[in-house]
Amino acid sequence: MAPIVGSQMLGTLRRIVQEVNNAPSLDVALQRIVLRVKQAMGVDTCSIYLRDSEQMYVLMATQGLNPTAVGRVRLSPKKGLIGLVGERAEPINLDDAPSHKCYQYFPETGEEAFHGFLGVPIIQQSQVVGVLAVQEVEGGRFEEDSVSFLITVAAQLASAIAHAEVTGDTERLLGKERRSDRPLVGLAGSAGVALGCAVVVYPPADLNAVPDRLVSDTAVEVQQLMAAVDAVRNDIKLLLVRLSDMGVSEDDRVLFEVYLMMLDSGGMVDKIVEYIDQGLWAAGALKKAVLEHVSVFEAMEDPYLSERALDIRDLGIRILAHLQNVPDRANDYPASTVLVGEEITATMLAEVPPGVLSAVISVRGSNNSHVAILARAMGVPCVMGVTDFPTGRVDGQEIVVDGYQGKVYIKPSVAISREYQRLVAEEREFSAELDGLRDEPAKTKDGVVIPLYANTGLLSDIGPSLKYGAEGVGLYRTEFPFIIRDRFPGEDEQCRIYRQVFDAFKGRPVVVRSLDIGGDKALSYFPINEENPFLGWRGIRVTLDHPEIFLVQMRAIFRASEGGDNLNILLPMVTNLSEVELAKQLISRAAKELEEEGVVIRPYQLGVMIEVPAAVFQAEQLARQVDFLSVGTNDLTQYLLAVDRNNPQVAHLFDSLHPSVLQALQHVVKSAHNSGKQVSICGEMAGDPAAAILLLAMGADSLSMNASSLPRVKWVIRNMTQRQAGQLLEEALQSDSAAATRERLNKVLNDVGLGGLLRAGK
Ligand code: PEP
Ligand code: MG
Repeated sequence: MAPIVGSQMLGTLRRIVQEVNNAPSLDVALQRIVLRVKQAMGVDTCSIYLRDSEQMYVLMATQGLNPTAVGRVRLSPKKGLIGLVGERAEPINLDDAPSHKCYQYFPETGEEAFHGFLGVPIIQQSQVVGVLAVQEVEGGRFEEDSVSFLITVAAQLASAIAHAEVTGDTERLLGKERRSDRPLVGLAGSAGVALGCAVVVYPPADLNAVPDRLVSDTAVEVQQLMAAVDAVRNDIKLLLVRLSDMGVSEDDRVLFEVYLMMLDSGGMVDKIVEYIDQGLWAAGALKKAVLEHVSVFEAMEDPYLSERALDIRDLGIRILAHLQNVPDRANDYPASTVLVGEEITATMLAEVPPGVLSAVISVRGSNNSHVAILARAMGVPCVMGVTDFPTGRVDGQEIVVDGYQGKVYIKPSVAISREYQRLVAEEREFSAELDGLRDEPAKTKDGVVIPLYANTGLLSDIGPSLKYGAEGVGLYRTEFPFIIRDRFPGEDEQCRIYRQVFDAFKGRPVVVRSLDIGGDKALSYFPINEENPFLGWRGIRVTLDHPEIFLVQMRAIFRASEGGDNLNILLPMVTNLSEVELAKQLISRAAKELEEEGVVIRPYQLGVMIEVPAAVFQAEQLARQVDFLSVGTNDLTQYLLAVDRNNPQVAHLFDSLHPSVLQALQHVVKSAHNSGKQVSICGEMAGDPAAAILLLAMGADSLSMNASSLPRVKWVIRNMTQRQAGQLLEEALQSDSAAATRERLNKVLNDVGLGGLLRAGK
C-alpha cells in the first residue's frame, strides 16, 4: 500500500474526526471510521472491535470482512491477535498473520484470505476499550507511517467510544440493555447526592426559526410586542415569588431582578421597536435585536459574559413564546425530578414546582452559571458542564447525580444505584442524628478541641451554617455578591450584605476575604482576558491594582462590622510580602478615613491565605506580618500538583492527600506556630472527614468548610483521639501516594465504625 504521509495524514484525520463527531450514533460513527480508514490506507479490510461488559472483544464494524459477522464474532481477551493487541496494549504489525501462534480462525469473517495484519489498541484513561485492525491479502509488514496513522485514529476514537459505553450505546448496538457503572464527569456545581428521574427541558420557542416578514401596520406589532413583554415580566415576578417561598434569599434572587431590568431598561426593547418601525413584524424584529445582543456577548471570551448571552437569549425566547401564543408547556415533573438540559437557565430551574426538584444537570455552563448559584442556594445537587451528555436520549431515565464529585450515572447499575440510595439515606439520617451534635464541640476523645467554621458566599449560606452548628465563618467569599450582579455593588449595598453575615454570627468570628476574582471567577462587567487565568491577574493582584475597588470594599466591611468584635479580614492569592504591606496600608487608610467620619473601628485581625507554593516557603515571614494564616487547599493543591482544579480530564490527579501537599501543610502550620500565630484550613480538604483527621493531627487551629460537611467532620473528630490521628499523619507523610493514604484512612474509619462517612468513589 502507499504510505500516508505528513499533511495528507493530518487532513484525512481531521475529516474522520469531524465525521465521527457529526455522526448521529455510535453505530454510524464506527461504520464511517472503518470505511474512511480503509480508503485512506488503501487496505483490504478495516475492522473495529470493542470490549463489552463481559470484557470480550466484539466485532462492531467492518469494511472488507463478512458484514454478517458484526456483533456475532466475540473474542476472549486472552485469545487471537485482537486479544494479543489488547493484552499488550500496543500495536502488533505482522507480515503473515495466519502463521502467528496466537492467530485464531473465525469462519464467519472469511479472514483466511488475509496475511498482512496491523492492530492498534483503543485506549481511554489507560484502559483498553477496543482494537482497530487493518488487513491485507498480500503479506508484508505495514510501513511506519501507516502504523502512526492508525494509532492516531485510535487515539481520537477513544473518547467517543468511552462516552458511548457510559451511555449504553455499545450495548444497545449489540442488542443488549445494560446498566452503567461508569459515570460521565462534569463540574461539581452544588454539593449533595440524588437519585431521580430525568426531565429534559428545552427552550419554549426557536428564535432562529423565525422568518423575516414585512408588515405595514407596525402599530399592531408594537402592541403585540409590548403585551408579550408584559407577560414575560409577570412570569418572572411569579417565579420570584415562588423562589422566595422556596427560601431563596433576596440577595440570590437578584439574578431575576436583572432579568426584569433588561425588560424595563430601554435598551433591548427599544431596539426591537426600532426594527418594527422599520417595517419588520414583531417576531422578526425581536429575533434581530436579541441575536445582535447575544452575538456581542458571545463574542467575548469571558465565560461569565457568555452566560449573560444565555440570559438575553432566554428572555428573547420567552417573549417569542408569548408572541406565538405557545401554550405554557406544563412539564410533567415527577417526584425526584432531575432537571436536565443543554443549557439550563435560572428560569427553567425556578419553573419546577416546589418539593420535587432533586438535582440539576446542565450540559453547558460552569460553577459560575446562575443555575449553579441558585442550586447551591436551594441546597439541590448540581453538575455542570457535562460534555458529551446524551440529552436527547435520557428523558424519563433513571439517573444518579453526585454533586460532590461532579459525576452523573445514566441508568446506573444495581450496585451504583444501591450505593447512592445508601448515601442519600445516610445523608438524611445524618442530618437527623447529627442534629443532636449541633451545639456540641468538635472535641476528640482525648480532649483536644478544634473549632469548626463554615465557608459562605451567598446570604443563603447563613441558614445552613447556623443549622449545622458552625462556630463562626472561617471564609466569607465576598466575590459571590459581585458575581451575581451586573455592576460593582456600591459601598452601601456591600455594607448591607456583609452586615447580615456579621449580625447572624454575632459574638462568633467572621473571616471576610477581600474580593477574589480572576482565575475561574469572572465578573461580567469587568472582563479579564488571559491565556492562563489561574496564573494571571487574580485575587489580591487585581485589588491592589485597583485600590478604588479595594478601598470601597474595606470601608463597607468596617461599616458592616461596626458595633461587633468579630471582624477578621483575609487576603487571597498572596505571593509576595510586599502585597501584604500594600494591603495593610490601604486597609489602615480606609479605617482612618472612616474614623474621621465618626465610624468606630474596633480591633480586628488580619490574615493571609496560603494558596501559592511561594507562600508556603515564606509562611513564617508572612505570619509575622499578620495575625493569622488560612490555607486555601483548593488552590494550593492545584498549584503544587499542577492540576487545574476545574478540569475533569485530570480530576483524578487532584487529591489534597498527596504527600507533597501534606508536607506543605505541615510546614505552614509549624511556620505559623513558630511566629506565635494561628492557622486555619479553609479549602474543600477541611470538609473531607478523612483529611480532617490529618489536619487535626498537624495542629491546625480551626477548620472551615461548606456547611453541609460540618456534621460529618465533627462526628469523625469526636470519635478519634489526637494520638490516633498523630499516628495516621506520620504514616501519611511517609506514604508513596494520595491513593495509599486514602485507602489507609478509609480502612481506619471503617474499623472504628465510621465507614458510612466515606463518599462513594473516594
Ligand atoms: C482555596 O483556594 O482553597 C480557597 C478556599 O479559595 P477558593 O476556593 O475560593 O479559591
Ligand atoms: Mg483560592
